[in-house]
Amino acid sequence: MGAVTLQNIVKRFGSFTAVHPMSLEIPEGAFVSLLGPSGCGKTTTLRMIAGLLDPSEGDIQINGRRINDVPIHKRNLGLVFQNYALFPHRTIAENVAFGLKFRGVDKAERDERVKKALDLVQLPDVGDRYPKQLSGGQQQRIALARAIVIEPDVLLLDEPLSALDANLREDMRVELKRIQHQIGITTVFVTHDQAEALALSDRIVVMSNGRVEQVGAPEDVYTTPATEFVARFLGASNILPSTCTDASGTTVALENSAFGKLVLPRERAPHVTGPGAVKLAVRAEKLSIVAPGAADVTGEDAVSVPGVIETVDYQGLAARYFVRVGDEQLQAINMIDGSPFAEGAAVDVRLRPRDCTILAEAA
Ligand code: ATP
Repeated sequence: MGAVTLQNIVKRFGSFTAVHPMSLEIPEGAFVSLLGPSGCGKTTTLRMIAGLLDPSEGDIQINGRRINDVPIHKRNLGLVFQNYALFPHRTIAENVAFGLKFRGVDKAERDERVKKALDLVQLPDVGDRYPKQLSGGQQQRIALARAIVIEPDVLLLDEPLSALDANLREDMRVELKRIQHQIGITTVFVTHDQAEALALSDRIVVMSNGRVEQVGAPEDVYTTPATEFVARFLGASNILPSTCTDASGTTVALENSAFGKLVLPRERAPHVTGPGAVKLAVRAEKLSIVAPGAADVTGEDAVSVPGVIETVDYQGLAARYFVRVGDEQLQAINMIDGSPFAEGAAVDVRLRPRDCTILAEAA
């Protein structure tokens, strides 16, 4: 099993820098996702770890050993890509056994390990079939079995679920987590899907334009985004330009045009050192839309301001409202209790200061 260390790795293609200096510690046994939109450099990073691309600068280590110059077939990695096709003219058992044969493992041990790998992905009886006789989801499980049968130090997965339809994707997500927990293998997972990264990862590395925006546990990056990019990429957020008026005590006082004065607990604004312009982020599901003057039953000092519903995006269980509050249009996602508010309705918009985050980046 392997811990992976990236030390200031850079990847340039001609004059274009796809990955800016990037350092990352991936502890042994961890499931780490590289998350970001198309073109942010996540696949390039994974391909450098895999040995499919040489870094322009920096070192890559597995278990403390520098592997920059170790060729791909000697890195002992398991790879699964979105389109990592199985060999069509070989049986499933032959496909799974391929890496073992390449490593000179004898037939009896090969059969034993193939059987164990097929059991692990819960397809014990398909060894004699051919890939085209399996569904897309089953083929992806076989690709996973083929990757882990060699007992790699690290498993590298590049959007392995993205070719599957939505329901199957969610099933496979659960399956992938079970398998990773069962064998405890260090895993680097590339995805542009926030829900996938939140559900699967021990740590998420959020990337944008070839740079790391934030690294943290799923709950941390979700509830305490460091940058506007992270706040917007992981779910719907409102970003409100605000002015800090006092940061000298255990609370941080600020003002903005939508909510007026707000006093935040210090831990929601750890980076703020003094008065000045800041960016406040609040998740759409943390804004409550209530009838004007409705009693606040939360027992907390929520700030309440009047607004008008401009657009309702009905989602069944919840509704997404676009609400005009002064000069701002805010987004709120609320569970529907009874019927949703109608467009044009006058409402109150409530916000608990502890649900706000002051971003680390300057306003
Ligand atoms: P996607 O999800 O679309 O694969 P990504 O985040 O994985 O996106 P990368 O594939 O890592 O993005 O690409 C990062 C940037 O590097 C992109 O702008 C891409 O066009 C560029 N790039 C990747 N490979 C090459 C290459 N071989 N030559 C030139 N530019 C490249």
